[in-house]
Amino acid sequence: MINYPKVHLKKGKEHSIKRFHPWIFSGAVSRVDEGMQEGDLVAVYDAQGVFLAVGHISIGSIVVRILSFEEREIDLDFWIEKISSACKLRKAIDLYGNKDNNVFRLVHGEGDGLPGLIIDFYAGTAVMQCHSVGMYLHREEITEALQKILGNDLKAVFDKSEGTIPFKSGIEPKNGYLFGETESFIAVENGLKFNVDWLKGQKTGFFIDQRENRSLLEHYSKGRSVLNMFCYTGGFSFYAMRGGAKLVHSVDSSARAISITNENVELNFPGDKRHEAYAEDAFKFMDESSQKYDLIVLDPPAFAKHKKVLDNALKGYKRLNFKGFQQIKPGGILFTFSCSQAVSKEDFRKTVFVAAANAGRTVRILHQLTQPADHPVNIFHPEGEYLKGLVLYVE
Ligand code: SAH
Repeated sequence: MINYPKVHLKKGKEHSIKRFHPWIFSGAVSRVDEGMQEGDLVAVYDAQGVFLAVGHISIGSIVVRILSFEEREIDLDFWIEKISSACKLRKAIDLYGNKDNNVFRLVHGEGDGLPGLIIDFYAGTAVMQCHSVGMYLHREEITEALQKILGNDLKAVFDKSEGTIPFKSGIEPKNGYLFGETESFIAVENGLKFNVDWLKGQKTGFFIDQRENRSLLEHYSKGRSVLNMFCYTGGFSFYAMRGGAKLVHSVDSSARAISITNENVELNFPGDKRHEAYAEDAFKFMDESSQKYDLIVLDPPAFAKHKKVLDNALKGYKRLNFKGFQQIKPGGILFTFSCSQAVSKEDFRKTVFVAAANAGRTVRILHQLTQPADHPVNIFHPEGEYLKGLVLYVE
C-alpha cells in the first residue's frame, strides 16, 4: 500500500484518467490533503474513494502529472523500469548505438510515460531538462537509474533545468553535472557533424527533432538556391549543401548561433563558398532582401507557448509564410514548420493556406511532416504531437 497525500476528484471527472490521459486539470479536483508542497508525489482518487493514479502535484492549470495508473511506489525500480523501456524503444528504431547518429532523444516526457522529463543523449552525455518541480526533485534517482541501465555507455549527466522549472515554484535550479563531466563534443547526425553547446545553447543544445525532415530537404536540394530561416546551428543548411544546392543562405537572430553555424560549415565543407550566414531578424531580412530562392525553410521558435496567445501566434505564422511565398521562385519548394504545441495541425495548415492565397500563389502539398520516432506520441495524449510541417510546391 502506498502512503502518498491524497487528491480527490469531483464526481464524473475521472473519465479522462480512465482513458489514461496523463494530466489532471485544476477544475477536476474537489479537495487535496493539507500541507502538500509543489512537486510532492500524490495519490489520486475518484469521488467514491477509488484509487486512480500516482503523480506529481504542481501549481497551475495542470495540477497532477501522472506517473503510474497502478498503485505503486515511485522508487528507484520505477525509474529503472520506465527509462529501460525508453531505451528499448530507441534500440528498436535503430538509434541507440547507431554510428551515423550519435544524438537522439532518450526520454520524451509524456511520450515515454514520464511527464515533465526530457533527456537527450549526446554520444554518452545525457542532458536532462525537468519541466516540473516533481521531476526535478527526483533528478538524483533518475541519474542513478541512467547509470544502472546504460553502464559504460554513459559518460556524464548534465542537468539543464535552470530555464525550464516553472518560475513561480520558488526553487532556483542551477545547471550543472550530476555525474561525470564532458568537454565539447561533436554530434553526428546522418553522417553530418555539428558542434553542440549543451552548456549554453538553446533547449538541450541541438534540435534533434528535425533529423528526418532535414534528410527530406537534402533530397530536394540539388541545383537549388536555398534560404534557411531560423537556422540555429545550421541543421538544414548542411543537408542542403550535401544534397548539391548551388547556394545556401542561413539566417538567425542569435549571433552565437550564427558563429556556431560558420564553425559547422568548416567541420563539414571546409572552404566551401556556397554558404553564407547572416545574424539578423528573420522579418527584417525578408523585408530587405529582394533575392528569390528555389527552396526556403521556415522553422521559427514556438510562437504560442500556451493557448492564450494562440491568435497572435497564428498571425505571426501567417505573416512569416506570406513573406516566404513572396520570396520563392515559381516551381520552388517551401518547408514550413510550427513547433507550438498549442497550434493544431489544422490551424497551422489553414494559416499557411491563407498566406498562400494572400500572396497569390498556387500551392500543392507534397508532404506533411511531424516529429521523428525518438519523440514518440503517447496515443492517450494527442497534445504530444507538437511538431507540424508542410512541404509545398509553389507555382
Ligand atoms: N531550424 C533549427 C532550429 C530553429 S530553433 C535547426 O534545425 O536546428 C529557432 C531559432 O530561431 C533559434 O535559433 C532562435 O535564435 C531563432 N530566432 C528566434 N527569433 C528570431 C527572429 N525574429 N529572427 C531570426 N531568428 C530568430
